[in-house]
Amino acid sequence: MNADVLVVGAGLAGLHTATQLARRGHDVLLADRRTTLTGAIRTTGIFVRKTLDDFPLPAEHLGPPIRRTVLYPPRLDRPVVLDSDRDEYRVGDMGPLYAAAARTAADAGVRIALGTRYAGRRDGVSLLSGPDGPLGVRARFVVGADGTRSRVARDLGLDRNTRLLVGAEEVFAVPGVDGPPAFHCVLDPSLAPGYLAWVVNDGEHAHVGVAGYADRFPDGLRRAVRRFRAAAPGLPAGDPPEDVELRGGPIPVGGLLRRIACADGLLVGDAAGAVSPLTAGGLDPCLRLSDHAADVLDEALRTGRPDVLAHYDGAALRTSFRGRLALRRGLAQVRTPAMATAAFALLRTPPGRAAARHVLFGDRSFPDAVRVPAPAVV
Ligand SMILES: Cc1cc2nc3c(=O)[nH]c(=O)nc-3n(C[C@H](O)[C@H](O)[C@H](O)COP(=O)(O)OP(=O)(O)OC[C@H]3O[C@@H](n4cnc5c(N)ncnc54)[C@H](O)[C@@H]3O)c2cc1C
Repeated sequence: MNADVLVVGAGLAGLHTATQLARRGHDVLLADRRTTLTGAIRTTGIFVRKTLDDFPLPAEHLGPPIRRTVLYPPRLDRPVVLDSDRDEYRVGDMGPLYAAAARTAADAGVRIALGTRYAGRRDGVSLLSGPDGPLGVRARFVVGADGTRSRVARDLGLDRNTRLLVGAEEVFAVPGVDGPPAFHCVLDPSLAPGYLAWVVNDGEHAHVGVAGYADRFPDGLRRAVRRFRAAAPGLPAGDPPEDVELRGGPIPVGGLLRRIACADGLLVGDAAGAVSPLTAGGLDPCLRLSDHAADVLDEALRTGRPDVLAHYDGAALRTSFRGRLALRRGLAQVRTPAMATAAFALLRTPPGRAAARHVLFGDRSFPDAVRVPAPAVV
């Protein structure tokens, strides 16, 4: 089979890149090993204000706006309540949201192959294994949108994620919420070593999760989630319903990778390490980097010049992650509940609250890429 571009992975990054390229008239094949995009979801789906402002996400698949964030120390006493005067977050109903994005992609002309695994590359041909057996695809460019442990990155000889957190959560329907919808974050390294435990309750669904460094969970990630859920703040009283969805997966927190493109293709989303090292938010970065990728690939396809892909430079974009990488290293050092309690004392001060507001409600997001200059006419 031939295509201008083979996109491997139909998460948000792959769907967005494929759609943008097809809209510009390119022939795009999008393959994902999942048989349905509404299953095996790996994200809580919290979209931040800047994403909601800049990308046309279908409002019917977004939960109610959240303006309140509550930060807790390990003993859950005297939490810091931060209220914004703007809508800061909305939680996506991710199954329907992925399905809607796939319909948009198909309408734009993307050929979507589900149940189709990318299995490697030989002599410039990508090897797929689908419901009808093996298939070779000769594409001008390959896009690795295949997540944190990208096989495409390996085959193209590009950088790969090495610094990872793992996260897991339980999701269930809730019968409304007492008080305003809120995002509750608990800083307790015995539950979430190196990151946070969270409850997002928007009155429609509750997400109860933990994330941290895999080798620091004393009795495993799933047990940590159950332990947290038993005493988690922000949940309705009583047992959780029987219908509980489990989600989880790795999160790259080493910052954007440096080498994310070569003459044969490029990486987007988690495959490129496009996740905030501090907040572990990857939905906004994956959409923004996918726009940049589509610009570069469009230029390369129209001009027939693969050297245009040199403008897709992770090392240049990465510089704006320095502060967040330093804060990630700081958070990783909070190893005991006593240290977390001490750090929390700082959060209660006016400068501490201001810093927390800056991180949680600030306007910073993934850096805008420099536009691709048109190649000189020879
Ligand atoms: C528990 C958890 C909670 C999170 N919560 C949030 C949040 O609330 N807000 C936020 O901003 N970020 C969050 N993140 C991060 C965010 O979800 C990711 O950064 C984002 O979803 C990455 O999208 P992606 O398209 O790059 O990757 P993915 O969504 O992982 O998509 C990769 C796709 O590639 C496919 N694939 C992989 N290998 C192959 C192969 N060999 N062949 C074919 N297909 C393949 C997979 O099936 C998958 O569909 C969370 C992450 C985790 C783990």
